[in-house]
Amino acid sequence: MNEVKFKRWGVPVERMFLAAGPCSAESEEQVLTAARALAGHGVSFMRAGIWKPRTRPGSFEGVGLKGLAWMDHARTTTGLKIGTEVAEPAHVEACLEYGLDILWIGARTATNPFSVQAIADVLKGTDVPVLVKNPMTADIGLWIGAIERLANAGLTKLGAIHRGFGSTLEMRYRNAPNWKVPIELKRLLPDIPLICDPSHICGKSELIHTIAQEAMDLLFDGLIVEVHPDPAHALSDAAQQLTPAQFFSMVESLELSREQSESPVFLNRMSGLRESVDELDSRLLELLGQRMDIVQEMGRLKAGQGVSTLQPHRWQEIIDDRVKKGVGLELSEGFVLQLMQSIHEEAIRRQEANRVEGVE
Ligand code: PEP
Ligand code: MN
Repeated sequence: MNEVKFKRWGVPVERMFLAAGPCSAESEEQVLTAARALAGHGVSFMRAGIWKPRTRPGSFEGVGLKGLAWMDHARTTTGLKIGTEVAEPAHVEACLEYGLDILWIGARTATNPFSVQAIADVLKGTDVPVLVKNPMTADIGLWIGAIERLANAGLTKLGAIHRGFGSTLEMRYRNAPNWKVPIELKRLLPDIPLICDPSHICGKSELIHTIAQEAMDLLFDGLIVEVHPDPAHALSDAAQQLTPAQFFSMVESLELSREQSESPVFLNRMSGLRESVDELDSRLLELLGQRMDIVQEMGRLKAGQGVSTLQPHRWQEIIDDRVKKGVGLELSEGFVLQLMQSIHEEAIRRQEANRVEGVE
């Protein structure tokens, strides 16, 4: 965690940036109870959704404007900073009127550049901190684009929230973590704080610690966690909310790591291992280059005979064989499948490029 990233944000950041609070504001009493339990423990801001973007109509869609007054009251009573999700210009205007300390754009809204631009237009001239959740689909361009729209409107306190991605293949988590996407965001936007939302990734309270720890191991700058005084009776996302006590014990048990160590033994051993990895990567790339040369030759033969580039039966055999071999080498099935799909895609690209050249 790099606290310099939160300079001028006007919210407390201690061990890490830490947002906590109910999925939704439900009643004044619930908001106040949550705030009293959270205050005084280094929480950066209390979250609570006022306008809830529900996938299906008919479920609890938030209490609307009156929730802002409850949160404002909780702030004056406890001193906690407060933040909520905004999805349209009217939401932003109401939040600015109440002087909310922080806003975030939800995953569904971040998917739509029109909505993000409309929000950015209303925020122009203010410098309220805004966090942008990743869009529902793993499209890093859309995520970065939303952050850019806000930056172009002159906002300087911007952060990103990783809340996982909708996927029909994911079984364990509500939203697939797909860590390579936030890792790539961190590489492309190193100065933008990156915060993990383990609640929406997990969907179940018992998994939250694992994902929060992984985020810490990947040098995330903080967490936003759903915490409810009475999770079992929450009006939205009941299964994934922690009680305040569970939340604080989860946060306390997290091990924070640093990017570097000065230990000579560590540095020496790491540099030896890294040399081996560099060497193996070179060999992998050389082998892939050779494989693609052969594939190109096969492409030429296919084109000469009017044979299709895609060979479904052969492709199925390759997958079955490589996955089996990979699993025997303790590689995960998903990894081998993705790796072979990437190699196959590149092979097709080479063969098709060649085919077009051949025609000309
Ligand atoms: C939320 O934070 O309550 C929420 C609706 O999250 P998301 O936009 O990530 O689904
Ligand atoms: Mn929620």
